[in-house]
Amino acid sequence: MTDAASAPHSFDPHALPPLRDVIARFGLDARKALGQNFLLDLNLTGRIARSAGPLEGVTVVEVGPGPGGLTRALLATPARAVIAVERDHRFVEALQDVVAAAAGRLTIVEADALTVDPVELAPAPRAVVANLPYNVATPLLIGWLKRIRDYVGLTLMFQKEVADRLVAEPGSKTYGRLSVIAQWQADVRVLFNLPAKAFTPPPKVASSVVRLTPRPAPEPADWTAMETVTAAAFGQRRKMLRQSLKALGDAEGLLAAAGIPPTARAEEVPVAGFATLARLWRDGAAKD
Ligand code: SAM
Repeated sequence: MTDAASAPHSFDPHALPPLRDVIARFGLDARKALGQNFLLDLNLTGRIARSAGPLEGVTVVEVGPGPGGLTRALLATPARAVIAVERDHRFVEALQDVVAAAAGRLTIVEADALTVDPVELAPAPRAVVANLPYNVATPLLIGWLKRIRDYVGLTLMFQKEVADRLVAEPGSKTYGRLSVIAQWQADVRVLFNLPAKAFTPPPKVASSVVRLTPRPAPEPADWTAMETVTAAAFGQRRKMLRQSLKALGDAEGLLAAAGIPPTARAEEVPVAGFATLARLWRDGAAKD
């Protein structure tokens, strides 16, 4: 007997009706409040799915399948299964044809992705691949980064401005909290950019596909301490750290212990420096 996991996968994304027909048939007008900008070119969704790396045996969680262009492309990879989390009920109905064609490899979960943990939904090895709704992209990413070692990787479409921040290096204007937190936990790479016109309807901004893979040995530091220290430091990014870190207590003492000049600014401190500050601050706070 074969099951979905062991059967050879032969899913043809083009065998189903064109995405434009699906949209017309189900009256799927795009809702801005839900970040609905669709990819209707199956060559493009195929490129994104292939850029997610080897998916053989992997269960993929997709957030926001919409009309299903990327979902179809993911089903055409050797992924074990796809679990797609969609908040808009209209798409859950429209995707039933894809569910039927996927022969047990596609499950649709109707939910707000902010309230579900992919680790609970999907067995390991697991990955997230998604053209994210931009209004909730950053909180979703932060949640996944907290358990990044539970994933083989995250391959995500962001607005380009967010992607630039994710990969920014110390000394650059875009280096900030998001850069530090993401690079602390993951190797982050921009794979390719897409112009606004690649989407229907086109958003106001360009987009980038970003791949995040877990760093094998991130600098040890507590998440809350890391978030607190980076918030204080970048909250006043033009100020010297001896000033911006005052809210945390003895800023000068903390910086001296970390070997960071008190006159340095947040944007000059590498990820490892923030991890040291977070560790020292938490140790000090624990003694108070
Ligand atoms: N994957 C499709 C594509 O590439 O054409 C659609 C991508 S569209 C940018 C974002 C999708 O996320 C929409 O289908 C939208 O309904 C869905 N969405 C928005 N907010 C969501 C949330 N909080 N939880 C789950 N899905 C959400």
